[in-house]
Amino acid sequence: MLIRVICGQKENICGKMIPYGKQNITEADIQAVIETLQSDFLTQGPKIKEFEDAFAQYVGSKYAVAVANGTAALHLNCIALNVKPGDKVITTPITFAASANCVRYCGGEVVFADIDPETYLLDINKVRELLESSPKGTYKGIIPVDFAGKAVDLEVFRKLADEFDLWIIEDSCHSPGGYFKDSQGQKQNCGNGNFADLAIFSFHPVKHIAAGEGGMITTNDIDLYEKLIKLRTHGITKDESSYVNSIEFAGGDNSYPAWYMEMQELGFNYRLTDFQAALGLSQLKRADEGLERRREIAKKYFDSFKEKGFIKGQSGVVEGHAYHLYIIEVEDRLKLYNHLRENKIFAQIHYIPTHLMPYYRNFGWKEGDMPNAETYYKNCISLPMFPTLTNDDQEFVINKITEYYNE
Ligand SMILES: *Cc1c(COP(=O)(O)O)cnc(C)c1O
Repeated sequence: MLIRVICGQKENICGKMIPYGKQNITEADIQAVIETLQSDFLTQGPKIKEFEDAFAQYVGSKYAVAVANGTAALHLNCIALNVKPGDKVITTPITFAASANCVRYCGGEVVFADIDPETYLLDINKVRELLESSPKGTYKGIIPVDFAGKAVDLEVFRKLADEFDLWIIEDSCHSPGGYFKDSQGQKQNCGNGNFADLAIFSFHPVKHIAAGEGGMITTNDIDLYEKLIKLRTHGITKDESSYVNSIEFAGGDNSYPAWYMEMQELGFNYRLTDFQAALGLSQLKRADEGLERRREIAKKYFDSFKEKGFIKGQSGVVEGHAYHLYIIEVEDRLKLYNHLRENKIFAQIHYIPTHLMPYYRNFGWKEGDMPNAETYYKNCISLPMFPTLTNDDQEFVINKITEYYNE
């Protein structure tokens, strides 16, 4: 049978699929990658430092370390912060599993604390309750997540962490360019290192800045920075001032020979390649543009839905929000999800609560442990949100949703 396809924007009858998130690759991005492919270095070359410096400047941190992906960034952070078997670390159940898994890579124990149902972020009061109900020293750190792009107020988390001698890893994968305002009214960029010990980002294609795969760690702490640089490359260093073995052993006469290097601790190969860094760097140049468009899309969703009774929760247009996701809470979520799919709109659910993943149930986590997260999961749905979403396509999405509830 021959099917005639007629393209009509408003009705999406050409069958164009609308995903919830999507990368945007321009001619300039492609040129940047080609140039690096034709250069002397595919990996361990100058693009890495260039990308790190530009990224550190973008978020306002002193240092940045490029790594293979966001999960590798989290893993290295836990090693650098000395997470040991049995160490308890607190995180949110409404996040990608990697935010918790990194603790397990080091044998630590993940302790979930519930979310605030208004912001969907880790509820600091729940964290405080946990900390106050155990002897000091029980917990080692907190991993708050700038979920959906909304910045965690790290100033208040830092105060709490200091009271209990905890470190903080900020999972900023959703929020490059996001910020919160501190108690002085100053903008504090996600990942700027002013409050968290370490912050991490991902360059997976659904995130703001795409590099295929890729990740970045930012910090203001030089000791952590130097540790991370080593851990990223097998624990090997070429920094002479830190050498343990003698010049004589190394085979030099008055100085260490040029070939010499030392593996001083157990590290990994978690490097990013230079052509990925070139892509990330090229994308970073358009980050603000993308952010602006995300905020525009959020405003249009908000304005379209604000008077609709079927929408239970809507974050609204929040200052400093980086809008990685635009989430609404609805009744009949499954039916809406299927209705959208029938129209080739691929909404997504973020996230299935991590504490109820079968792996974490093995540790005793069960339904009812995180009531806010579990209620949220029953109703949440993430709508298409990416800078190249056209006005027509967004209107099509909005119409399909309102049409569904008006039926
Ligand atoms: C994407 C993501 C990660 C992991 O990043 P990868 O680069 O995919 O390894 C971690 N945390 C959050 C919140 C994420 O969204």
